[in-house]
Amino acid sequence: MISAVQDATCTVVISRGQSRNPQKRGLEQGIADEIGKLEGVNVLTIPHLYDLPKTSDSYQKLSQIEGDLIVVSWIYSRAAHWILDRNGIQGQVGLVEIGDPDDDDSEDVGIEQPNSKATDPESESTEPLVDRVTDLYPRPDRKVHCVDLKVENDPQVFIAEIKRILGVDASTADTSLPIVGGKLVQVEEQTSRRWYPVIDFSRCTNCMECVDFCLFGVYGVDGSENILVEQPDNCRKGCPACSRVCPANAIIFPQHKAPAIAGAETEGDEGFKIDLSQLFGAPNKSEDPIETAARERDEQLLLAGRDTIGIDEQLKKRQADLSASPKDRLDRLIDSLDEFDL
Ligand code: SF4
Ligand code: SF4
Repeated sequence: MISAVQDATCTVVISRGQSRNPQKRGLEQGIADEIGKLEGVNVLTIPHLYDLPKTSDSYQKLSQIEGDLIVVSWIYSRAAHWILDRNGIQGQVGLVEIGDPDDDDSEDVGIEQPNSKATDPESESTEPLVDRVTDLYPRPDRKVHCVDLKVENDPQVFIAEIKRILGVDASTADTSLPIVGGKLVQVEEQTSRRWYPVIDFSRCTNCMECVDFCLFGVYGVDGSENILVEQPDNCRKGCPACSRVCPANAIIFPQHKAPAIAGAETEGDEGFKIDLSQLFGAPNKSEDPIETAARERDEQLLLAGRDTIGIDEQLKKRQADLSASPKDRLDRLIDSLDEFDL
């Protein structure tokens, strides 16, 4: 049942967890109840945003909201941002000060995105930096702040952070008022657990390696020949293989147990961010990420009753070609680490 969301300067979206854990439900409700009392703020509660199809009532509702968004969910902030993006809820990454360090806004903190095409004035290299999809197709100016509910148990931490983002003075906000009808909207719809890749288009170079690597028809291209997760539900549950062969580390599986594959990031010492899976991409450190990916793909082929192919000549050639293509700042950092024989 959906009712209209009132006009508001900002909407806080709460994406419920997949389990029925009462503690999680309590945390979500505690945040909704408190934030719903703030003037000019609506609260929209939806099922888990990863499980929802684009045609769902929840995404229809979200698509009607024009202003800034604050989205709290049980997945990493980067994963949430790009799940929303693939479902048409697009914007710039908004600053969040709790959770993993990926939640920085480069404008706010003066850090250049590692994937920006802009030339690095401090770099002596004359190599061109590669285009990212978001360089070619910039997202709208509005901010989408994604808050990860996994980082704390205390609702007050999230309430304080949401108020900070909203610019509400926590000491003067009057939250003793009753909630006005229509400010709190809950969308109830059936979902089932899904498993599919999510592309971080601020990293993706549109190289098409994933479409060539996956043999289950998950990827395709759109009308502008950009990579697209076309048949997400063709993805094999538990398979993260293509995330290991993506040269830009742009493929996220939000429910994978390895944080780097699930969308977590760490802050690099060089003042920009690196993802450790670039350095330690395989579950077994002695195994090459491409070998791991080929093995995982073979496992899924066997489960599907098909023949295995291992590391075929085409995969070897494509990976060699990708290694020879223009490098981004992350590649250069890894090269410099290699020189130190770490
Ligand atoms: S392999 Fe990675 S960088 Fe290349 S098109 Fe796929 S998601 Fe984008
Ligand atoms: S995880 Fe496996 S099945 Fe899913 S898209 Fe990637 S390669 Fe294809």
